[in-house]
Amino acid sequence: MPHSRINAARKLRQLLIESSPLIENYTRELCPDCTDVCCRQKHGIYRERDRNYLNALGTAIPARDPARPLDGPCEALGERGCTHPRWLRPFKCTWYFCEPIVLAMQDQPQRSTRALTAVMTEMIRLYDELGG
Ligand code: SF4
Ligand code: SF4
Repeated sequence: MPHSRINAARKLRQLLIESSPLIENYTRELCPDCTDVCCRQKHGIYRERDRNYLNALGTAIPARDPARPLDGPCEALGERGCTHPRWLRPFKCTWYFCEPIVLAMQDQPQRSTRALTAVMTEMIRLYDELGG
């Protein structure tokens, strides 16, 4: 395993942990009342880059049941949202923002979304470094 990949994975995990409360400021308000929850099985599947990331961390990749319908609820979805900590989820679960969340972000003063935008940009760069 190249050192650069291990470093990128560790930095990405740290940023995912640090940015989670910024994202939860929005999801905490909007997700409990959502009538069209976005967490489908197909979104919770680990892609090659997600697997590279978790392998570089030496972390087991959560199992996904191939028999479950891809458009049904994600098997990691619990009664209070995702049962995985953010750093363990497929990266798509963090970079995807639904329309209500984007609108809520636009309602906030620019400076409050600037920190999240900066950290998202850095996380996407690190995710790209993981290859695949
Ligand atoms: S992120 Fe958006 S679409 Fe997904 S559960 Fe929350 S409010 Fe619903
Ligand atoms: S956030 Fe969690 S429950 Fe939702 S799709 Fe991703 S892994 Fe599944």
